[in-house]
Amino acid sequence: MELIYTKGKPGRRGSSLPKLDVPGSNSIPSSLMRKKAAQMPEVSELEAVRHFTLLSRKNMGVDSNFYPLGSCTMKYNPKLNEKIAAMTGFADLHPLLPQIRRGGALTQGALAVIYETERMLSELLGFSQTTMQPLAGAHGELTGVMLIAAYHKAHGDTKRKIMLIPDAAHGTNPASAAMAGFDTVTIPSDPHGNVDLEALKKELNENVAGIMLTCPNTLGMFDKNVKEICDLVHKAGAFAYCDGANFNAIVARLRPGDIGFDVMHVNLHKTFSTPHGAGGPGSGPVGVCEKLVPYLPVSCVVKRSDGTYALEYHHKASIGYIAPFYGNFGIILRAYAYLLTLGREGLVRVSENAVLNANYIRVKLLPYFDQQYPGYCMHECVFSATRQTEKGVHALDIAKALIDRGIHPPTIYFPLIVKEALMIEPTETESKEDIDRFIEVMIEIAKLADSNPESVKECPMTMPVKRLDETQAARKLDLASLE
Ligand SMILES: *Cc1c(COP(=O)(O)O)cnc(C)c1O
Repeated sequence: MELIYTKGKPGRRGSSLPKLDVPGSNSIPSSLMRKKAAQMPEVSELEAVRHFTLLSRKNMGVDSNFYPLGSCTMKYNPKLNEKIAAMTGFADLHPLLPQIRRGGALTQGALAVIYETERMLSELLGFSQTTMQPLAGAHGELTGVMLIAAYHKAHGDTKRKIMLIPDAAHGTNPASAAMAGFDTVTIPSDPHGNVDLEALKKELNENVAGIMLTCPNTLGMFDKNVKEICDLVHKAGAFAYCDGANFNAIVARLRPGDIGFDVMHVNLHKTFSTPHGAGGPGSGPVGVCEKLVPYLPVSCVVKRSDGTYALEYHHKASIGYIAPFYGNFGIILRAYAYLLTLGREGLVRVSENAVLNANYIRVKLLPYFDQQYPGYCMHECVFSATRQTEKGVHALDIAKALIDRGIHPPTIYFPLIVKEALMIEPTETESKEDIDRFIEVMIEIAKLADSNPESVKECPMTMPVKRLDETQAARKLDLASLE
């Protein structure tokens, strides 16, 4: 395929309207105008359209391919949410518009969206209040552990410098804890994939500020001791933080605040259906129990007795600003639309079907792939490519073979405690037919790994580029030399 960079002839143009000839209508000052024409290929409209259409097809997205990337919850994002986010009454708002008086009518709707989403999330999480400010899951983690630090400091408990983190945790957990000034101590998992209770008890003391638990955990399993863990942590005077990236498995069926968690982030771009990936915009609201409310960041939206909404900044004990303006409004708005469309009943079906789909895949693939931590899973199932490795086929090779077959790879080599991990999260939005096709393809690759391992190690064969240096490819992106 020939891309635009090598195409074009001088003078070739697309069609457009004639130049505006109203005097004084050119708002770009002449000092900022380009002196020499840009070195762009000169192409027809059709050539430009084909170029961008072909480029877009080189990408794998939820709208084009099954995308079972574990822990990321790459579910389908209904287009209705996009339509609502694009409404000019929302999309054209300036963040400095007045809230109430002159111009207030323009912003009251947006403030209501933030307020009502906050109320619904607090209800779903089982918490008193939620800050809508954090701009990603990891940013929510940092906010959450800063709240824990603020509480201990306000109570003169300055010895509490340790954050406990299970070995199955996402890498952002220890990073967030370290950024907030904590030393981290790793708690091992037991043979069932749960937190090792005895190891936890040994580490709990008056120097511990809290624990960061992922629930369900990154093995896709629900730790049956989670309530006991929270109780033990509380007895030691510490807080239980919940990494809620996996909330899709339990949304509307279990409120983490009810089982003892004190603070938790959710990834709106995972559970609440916002397009994400490639570092795109996210939102990581953090819900807190009553004890931590005074420390929440500013601003927050309040509803006043006359029914109007306003931003509040004056909280004496607040940790302050963690983001400019009012969080990632466009993402909050999409989550709001999603929550209202589904309602409670719809959300229950989300978590039920997400778990059902993952267990269906797990059972169907069990004869072909090993499971290091066996048993029912929640919304994702984690296999090990250990059997395939005996023939020289690794998790990475299986991922590449899936690409050739039109399927985005699952997460591989995470969680770190699983050998040759393949972490599969189908989500609730895939049809049974598409899940069955994925299972068929996985079985085909497993059989090939046994009978003809070289053919799997050669993949991908159908892509514009073959095997890349995984590290350099992201750092030295070279799109112009695609075949
Ligand atoms: C995605 C994820 C995070 C981080 O969330 P971001 O929104 O990517 O910053 C943290 N923990 C787990 C388990 C995750 O899956």
